[in-house]
Amino acid sequence: MTTKFQELLTNLDELGLDKMRAYLPEYIDELNQQQVTFTDAMLKLTTVELTWQDQLKTNRIVKRARFPQVKSLKSFDFDFQPSINQQQVMGFQDLAFMESKENLVFIGSPGVGKTHLAISVGIEACRQGKRTLFVNCHELLLRLNAADDKGTLDRCIRRYARYDLLIIDEIGYLPINHNEANLLFQLINARYEHCSTIITSNSDLSTWVEIFQNPTVTAAILDRLVHHAHIVKINGKSYRLKGTN
Ligand code: ADP
Ligand code: MG
Repeated sequence: MTTKFQELLTNLDELGLDKMRAYLPEYIDELNQQQVTFTDAMLKLTTVELTWQDQLKTNRIVKRARFPQVKSLKSFDFDFQPSINQQQVMGFQDLAFMESKENLVFIGSPGVGKTHLAISVGIEACRQGKRTLFVNCHELLLRLNAADDKGTLDRCIRRYARYDLLIIDEIGYLPINHNEANLLFQLINARYEHCSTIITSNSDLSTWVEIFQNPTVTAAILDRLVHHAHIVKINGKSYRLKGTN
């Protein structure tokens, strides 16, 4: 014989309220013993479910946009990195920069939090329904090169140009040859004034000429990247070395 309690569990199952369903059997005893109001009980159960669904949503986002980790501005210690204008960076979460098709450029030495900040803004963009992709610069160049070899470069660039937000991480960790600089230029140019791009680099923009080994194309890339951009320069210690002297 099915009890009402079992019926309730079945209903929660059918509604896809998995966490409420899982939590209820242990919670029901507490409810029956103590005098918990209906509102308190429903609040507790719906909060458990919402927290879970939010976590699932984040997991889906991270997978689809290929973020290497989950990061958030909440977990960023701004006190550790006083050169950052906290208000400016927190402000990026409203995505006004995307409305205006502006770029974000995070510059600083390794470990200062560039990727952390780029991912945090990217995850927020996903949460607000923006099509987002995170890609390492080296990997991006490999893909563009492969497409170029196969004669599918146009299609490949169009695909990358369609994202509302593209995050290109670690520009300048590895040298970029003449042809790669050309490919990157085509991509940046395709996105220019259409949609926002976030860049992280450990090299100051003034030294990009050396990385790209192609001054003319470097100037053209910088011109388009920086024309409408918020540049965040981080001068500080590596968080990875926190606690060491
Ligand atoms: P970068 O990209 O500048 O080399 P990361 O963003 O990868 O540095 O940061 C290195 C590690 O330290 C990451 O795990 C990141 O989450 C963490 N981290 C860096 N800066 C901070 C900070 N100010 N507060 C909290 N965690 C930080
Ligand atoms: Mg990084």
